[in-house]
Amino acid sequence: MEDINKNSALGETGNFIHEAIKEDLGEHTEKIITRFPPEPNGYLHIGHAKSICLNFGLAEYYGGKCNLRFDDTNPSKEDTEYVESIQEDIKWLGFDWGDRLFYASSYFDKMYELAVGLIEDGLAFVCDLNADEVRDMRGSLKEPGKESPYRNRSVEENLDLFRRMKEGEFADGEKTLRAKIDMASPNINMRDPVIYRISHTTHHATGDKWCIYPMYDYAHPVEDALEGITHSICTMEFEDHRPLYDWVIENIRLDAKPRQIEFAKLNLSDTIMGKRYLRNLVETGQVDGWDDPRLCTVSGIRRRGCPPEAIRNFCATVGVSKANSVVDLAQLDFCIREELQPKCPVMMAVLDPVKLVITNYPEDTTEELDVENHPGEEMGKRKIPFSRELYIERSDFMEEPPKKYFRLTPGKEVRLKGAYFVTCTGCKKDDEGNVVEVYATYDPATKSGLNFTERKVKGTIHWVNAPTAACVPVNLYENLVVRDETSENGYRLNENSLTTVNAYVEPSLAQAEKGERFQFMRNGYFAVDTKHSEKGKPVFNRIVSLKSSFKG
Ligand code: ATP
Ligand code: MG
Repeated sequence: MEDINKNSALGETGNFIHEAIKEDLGEHTEKIITRFPPEPNGYLHIGHAKSICLNFGLAEYYGGKCNLRFDDTNPSKEDTEYVESIQEDIKWLGFDWGDRLFYASSYFDKMYELAVGLIEDGLAFVCDLNADEVRDMRGSLKEPGKESPYRNRSVEENLDLFRRMKEGEFADGEKTLRAKIDMASPNINMRDPVIYRISHTTHHATGDKWCIYPMYDYAHPVEDALEGITHSICTMEFEDHRPLYDWVIENIRLDAKPRQIEFAKLNLSDTIMGKRYLRNLVETGQVDGWDDPRLCTVSGIRRRGCPPEAIRNFCATVGVSKANSVVDLAQLDFCIREELQPKCPVMMAVLDPVKLVITNYPEDTTEELDVENHPGEEMGKRKIPFSRELYIERSDFMEEPPKKYFRLTPGKEVRLKGAYFVTCTGCKKDDEGNVVEVYATYDPATKSGLNFTERKVKGTIHWVNAPTAACVPVNLYENLVVRDETSENGYRLNENSLTTVNAYVEPSLAQAEKGERFQFMRNGYFAVDTKHSEKGKPVFNRIVSLKSSFKG
């Protein structure tokens, strides 16, 4: 499979998945069908993106199909907001389920019927033990479990009781339907697992029609079989459940034979992905919604300004394996930069401004300078205004600099990007000693474009023209959590995760549209926030800085 890497969603998928699929394709020539089965109880995060890339990517690669299936068998937690956001996120990532959008809850009738079939075949029984008793009798890794006293009920009695369970005769927890497998199995999942429970809970799709609901380990293989899934790709925690998956497939009255294949979850360093944790942050107002740009949700990453190609490339480069590992966040940043570098125009923005006065430049004069939009020439040039008063970064001036400081310091010359060489002559301070203005003189002979070669300068700094600069809010981010051994999950919120500064930017940036992306010279890649920006009033989010802190 030498062209696996041509599928950008897939990358080096881990040969075990390709081996398995090729093995199966050898036997039957029909196309593969995979599925992405989110539970609609939260927004998708980057771990889900990994699963999406894998399932849709495999289908694409083998010329098959991938279903989107909402796994909504659990009655209590679903919400249409989640159903909609999940579809939006998958589309944004660049995948299409066509007309194959399914809801597991639409199979409840069929699941019931197939469970009746199991009872008729002597493979399931109604059990009166409560949850504690079932647990107590389940045994351990060392000891076999004990058989339920209800295990040998007649088929007729089981059919009658199961029907009455369905009809609402019993209270929650009073009875269950259990598969009759093997209480002595070394795999605890095979010890007569519960496959239906009673729950008098309204379901978002089926209302009060049902008061019994299938358990995941029964429902999932049935859903896969009903949809004709050929490869059911899931994460490693289901490896021990595979014998049960296969048992259900083997014993229900359906011909389809889906195959479960497990891979290791994506974990990102210093990133908490669990939906419960994310939901708590959102519901307690600690972040600005599920799409807060600091979150690793797909919608948060999107709002921050990351392009979908970067996520797909990231998932592809991370690859797929069976061994758990933690991927460095810096690897995601790297993929984002790789994607943005060739595509974003480079503009100038000063995030922490101090005024620079060019004392020998004529007052009341503004000239228009040509600057290139991108080091690759194809983006052309633009005009930017230059006059006697500019803004530069506060950190680009030091009165008493350390060694190897190649920016402005009294007596030293630097290049102002796209403009002139200027020599620093001093500064003005307020009563507390803070620098309020920096002074310099310029050399007209060094104008950018004249190819001045008589002397060289070591530093080039960015600037914006003070009288015409636009002042815009810019959000700068740090990681949302920092390590904290004393806290329950090893992390606490980073109180510096969001800093908003008022930056001075080139005047044309005031007209930037929602979602537009730029490189701000030396400061990183930025996008216009889609939630809080208005026409003529953009709010910028830093997507990623320019340099990697990756030490891996
Ligand atoms: P969470 O624990 O974060 O809430 P989940 O597994 O409960 O996630 P589901 O909606 O059940 O969320 O997941 C849908 C699919 O996404 C499943 O097939 C699951 O295996 C996969 N998935 C979830 N998290 C990850 C991850 N970190 N890496 C890869 N796949 C994942
Ligand atoms: Mg889940």
